[in-house]
Amino acid sequence: MKILIVGNGGRESALAMKLHSDSRISKMYFAKGNATTAKLGQNVYEESVVALRDFAINERIDLTIVGPEAPLVEGIVDEFKEHGLKIFGPRKRTAELEGSKAFSKKFMQTNNIKTAKAVVFEAYQDAMDYVKIQKFPIVIKASGLAGGKGVVIANDLAEAELTIHRFMIERIYGDAGIQLVIEEYLRGFEASIIAFANGKKLFPCVSVKDYKKAWTGDKGPNTGGMGSVAPSPEFTDAHYADFEKNILAPTLAGLQGAGIHFKGFIFFGLMVTNDGTYLLEYNLRLGDPETQVILPLLENNLLDVITDCLDGKDIELKFKDEKAVCLVMCSGGYPNKIDTGFEIKNLNKVTNSQIMFAGARYAGDKIVTTGGRVLSVVATGDSYDEARKKVYEDALKIQFDYAFYREDIGKF
Ligand code: AMP
Repeated sequence: MKILIVGNGGRESALAMKLHSDSRISKMYFAKGNATTAKLGQNVYEESVVALRDFAINERIDLTIVGPEAPLVEGIVDEFKEHGLKIFGPRKRTAELEGSKAFSKKFMQTNNIKTAKAVVFEAYQDAMDYVKIQKFPIVIKASGLAGGKGVVIANDLAEAELTIHRFMIERIYGDAGIQLVIEEYLRGFEASIIAFANGKKLFPCVSVKDYKKAWTGDKGPNTGGMGSVAPSPEFTDAHYADFEKNILAPTLAGLQGAGIHFKGFIFFGLMVTNDGTYLLEYNLRLGDPETQVILPLLENNLLDVITDCLDGKDIELKFKDEKAVCLVMCSGGYPNKIDTGFEIKNLNKVTNSQIMFAGARYAGDKIVTTGGRVLSVVATGDSYDEARKKVYEDALKIQFDYAFYREDIGKF
């Protein structure tokens, strides 16, 4: 089999590392990949949906897996399917559950899925009038894709008005700000659950805790993710039961009711409060850095579960009874301005962890930084402490100029 994986982050490296020992796979291609995927397959540089489609046709790709949200929202799955190409992921219409927060909030409300109370706005003045009579903090979300930056927790009226102005009038995230979702602020802890979908049922993986803030102690700006642990140490069986009843089951019923039978991944971003588990958002794909801790614990053969889902068969997911910790090493300055091109040294000294590259590429036989999140250091163990110790010992050895990472991933 020839496989194409779209994306270039730590998530795609985790997929590549899980799949590469499968003897049924003759070659893996990555668009556009990174230093890990360059070793395990061939990086290619087609970017648009049409160029990727033509590549898949010409290379006779047997299966395509899509990492990031943008191509899904653009309709890569529809395009591939129309040309008879096998691809694991949702159609454009289903990807709207991630691509439009207004659409997904309406879906949640219609299907009695437990979520924060919210109102959708299309008119600037209506949104401005609404926040005048609300309690603070309040959460203001640009409806469209804004690279994870379109959510602001406004602590007072002035901040709320400024945010609405920036999103709707200044359009700092372009068309993403045409519609706003303004919702009640929920206090609690977050957890992520990712499920495989086979067109009829959803099959959840272990829960994950991810760390969004840039700095140790949960301080600093939000990022794409600075680390993760699985299973989440906070998310108990009781929380899971709550999730299953109030979120998972009504989501499946809602999908079926809308005639949506997609095969791919669905990610539930959850907030666990004293009043139970709420759904903050759906992603219609694997998370990053969630994937980096889920796949090392997955006992099933990944190609089998994906092809079974594509064939509409039920799967039985099995996870090791271990803990996984992922630490993301970043370029200095991330998530703001960064410099790149620094050599990553001492990789051969890593002993107990897996290195999954993201913003890193080969330059000759050296590996150099190319992005903000440079690599994930991932290890498993019988306890969080054991996994964490492996990860931090190895992270200490890896060197590149201005590298930084959080000191508290997996520390409870
Ligand atoms: P979202 O893209 O909707 O998941 O929002 C991004 C992040 O904003 C979440 O991971 C939370 O940290 C925060 N957030 C979103 N909605 C709420 C809410 N209703 N209450 C508190 N925090 C929220």
